[in-house]
Amino acid sequence: MRIDEIPAGPKLDMLVAKMMGQEDFGHIGFFWQEGVTEDGEDGWNGFYCPRCGKAEADGGPCVKPYSTNRACIWEMVEWMNSLSYPFALRLDWHGPAVAGKGYATAGFSGDHHVSANTEALAVCYAALAVRAEVDEGLAQAIIESARGGI
Ligand SMILES: [Zn+2]
Repeated sequence: MRIDEIPAGPKLDMLVAKMMGQEDFGHIGFFWQEGVTEDGEDGWNGFYCPRCGKAEADGGPCVKPYSTNRACIWEMVEWMNSLSYPFALRLDWHGPAVAGKGYATAGFSGDHHVSANTEALAVCYAALAVRAEVDEGLAQAIIESARGGI
């Protein structure tokens, strides 16, 4: 089983959250938020959780969209840096013919590089791959997640 066989989405987000020490997966609460579009019309609004950004109706655990939102990349990098893992990210432009194929390659510790279609996904894979080597519980959780559980 390779870490990059787990697709972007909630399962992978849960693994990253657990790796980073999140233990409570209940939402903080749902608070009123609203915004307007560029033209100042068609404002959206609703009650959303400030930690994960989900609406109450979305369901699911409170976990940030680490694997799909590039805004989450630096939180992962800072956490890894706090454990003294140096970080490297390479972005490759493949052009339209192969766009989306291993566009980003991320690595921690110099020799663990994992490629993925997006930067966020590459960083998730690289961090999990490195930490699974020293965290038996995480390694087991990755295997179980790949088998279909959470
Ligand atoms: Zn939440």
